[in-house]
Amino acid sequence: MPQNSDFSIYNLPFGIFSAGRKKARVGVAIGNQILDLYAVAELGHFDEIGVKKEVFDNEYLNDFIALGKPITNAVRLKVQQLLSDQNSPIKGNDGLFEKQADANMHLPVFVRDYTDFYSSIEHATNVGKMFRDPDNALLPNWKHIPVGYHGRASSIVVSGTDIHRPKGQVVPKDAKSPVCKASGRLDFELEMAFIVGKETELGESITTANAEDHIFGFVIFNDWSARDIQKWEYVPLGPFLGKSFASSISPWVVTLEALEPFKVEGYEQDPSVLPYLEYNGKKNIDINLQVGIQPDGGGETIVTNSNYKYMYWNMVQQLTHHTVNGCNVNVGDMMASGTISGKDETGFGSMLELAWAGTKPVKLNDGTSRVFINDNDTVVMRGHAEKDGIRVGFGEVKGKVLPSF
Ligand code: CA
Repeated sequence: MPQNSDFSIYNLPFGIFSAGRKKARVGVAIGNQILDLYAVAELGHFDEIGVKKEVFDNEYLNDFIALGKPITNAVRLKVQQLLSDQNSPIKGNDGLFEKQADANMHLPVFVRDYTDFYSSIEHATNVGKMFRDPDNALLPNWKHIPVGYHGRASSIVVSGTDIHRPKGQVVPKDAKSPVCKASGRLDFELEMAFIVGKETELGESITTANAEDHIFGFVIFNDWSARDIQKWEYVPLGPFLGKSFASSISPWVVTLEALEPFKVEGYEQDPSVLPYLEYNGKKNIDINLQVGIQPDGGGETIVTNSNYKYMYWNMVQQLTHHTVNGCNVNVGDMMASGTISGKDETGFGSMLELAWAGTKPVKLNDGTSRVFINDNDTVVMRGHAEKDGIRVGFGEVKGKVLPSF
């Protein structure tokens, strides 16, 4: 195992891979390898858990996730045991492993619905300062509601997928009416997303006490945004085509169980929240996040270092609020955190904030600078948690911006 691997024996995230003659199927990342769970199941190692091998012969994780946490956790612990034991029956069986470098990673879940929250107080404050009132940046509802909107699931793509610069209506500087053109203000948004692992019935509400039973795991989420399209279209119903053209996710789904040791206290919420949003225990997670920009043919520059722990509204509050009206959720639904910004400009989660609406260009190592993302730039996001020598990470989500069609 390489040192400092995101995919330590404590992690064991699930994903969908194909390699050589193996078509898409379920695997677990370990070091720089992938353990083929279908092949492991064929050998009968999951028989005692009662899992049929067919569930791993699958283009998506949804069927596996839908088996429920007692089963999926048992599979993960069995894999941990098989990979740890000195006398493991899978030791030396090369047919069970593939090199990550030789495999293709696929979208891990079929996403039926995608919701995007707006839960980082630093991000919401920065945007409010730029576009509204510097002295009164947060809107009156912000500290009472985990603000969110329904996003577009069809355009969620896996890391490595190229993104075409979107076209749309924008109002040029000093013009009074719009034109339809390629966005000149293409941005990334540094986010985490959790994947729903247990459905609810229409009319049912999740509570903060049981919300974690409904959360399978997490990916890093780059919520690409076209700021000029967004600015013109968002009144009065909110984000639309400035957001829906693409969101990129990391391919390995890290389970909530693997992230358990990294939970931390969240913000003290003042004013106090309504009773249905009150919660007990640690619900924020300490995950270091970074973003790099790599110009075509050049080296990468890290432009921000943030952390998932800087969430004002946590995952259980988000899911509880989402279902307070009886809205049902399904296995594979994706809930993104909203842009995660740290306390100062070293940790801002979008170019909009890093370059402060275009007024403070961000210098790259090759001498060029950016206020937004250029054609042929690649944006890379990484995330990992680390404590007491234990590392649990996500790898990366990477996307290259191609010129507009
Ligand atoms: Ca977003």
